[in-house]
Amino acid sequence: MDFKCVQDCSKCCIEREYYPRKKFGKVGVLILPDEKEMIEARAKNLHLDIVILPRIGVSYEKSNGPTKILAYQLMGRESNGNTCPFLDTEGEERSPHGGYKCRIYESRPLACKAYPVIESSSVTLDNKCKFCESCANTATNLNEELESLSKIKNKMETNAPFIWRYATGVGEKSDLNKISTGWVLEI
Ligand code: SF4
Ligand code: SF4
Repeated sequence: MDFKCVQDCSKCCIEREYYPRKKFGKVGVLILPDEKEMIEARAKNLHLDIVILPRIGVSYEKSNGPTKILAYQLMGRESNGNTCPFLDTEGEERSPHGGYKCRIYESRPLACKAYPVIESSSVTLDNKCKFCESCANTATNLNEELESLSKIKNKMETNAPFIWRYATGVGEKSDLNKISTGWVLEI
């Protein structure tokens, strides 16, 4: 079945997850370094306050932190990390499938264009996507999503031996005592 958004769904623009585990806090929308300036400019034009944190960094030595940032993340606007600041939940206009409108749809980040594809070598879809709940194994027509994911992978390619992940310190109130903030060495 061709992939298409479920009627009225906005789940992936609202619900953010703890990743890779609770300690790291909720992640934002992945932003590549060459997308960051454009996203900041779009927010400024729309008079939106946004928070962009680092997400993945690398270093060639085991140091106190990364020497290069491979990806940032656009944090949700709610204190628990949910709801992309570009999602228009107040206006009456809706996207073609009836979900809330993305205010920057044409220039949305590659991560949004790739979703729900989360792995391209052996095509894997995010089972948290509403469409994928029932049709993940039979989804077709995912060329644009696969192409976007492949662009992200190319841009994040690195031979640096040390990978750092940024813990956002953001999550549900009841989880805050389990969540860290700052860079954590992964490998
Ligand atoms: S990609 Fe999936 S979760 Fe996101 S709006 Fe479409 S159906 Fe809903
Ligand atoms: S930028 Fe647009 S498509 Fe991406 S999460 Fe935000 S509202 Fe959704």
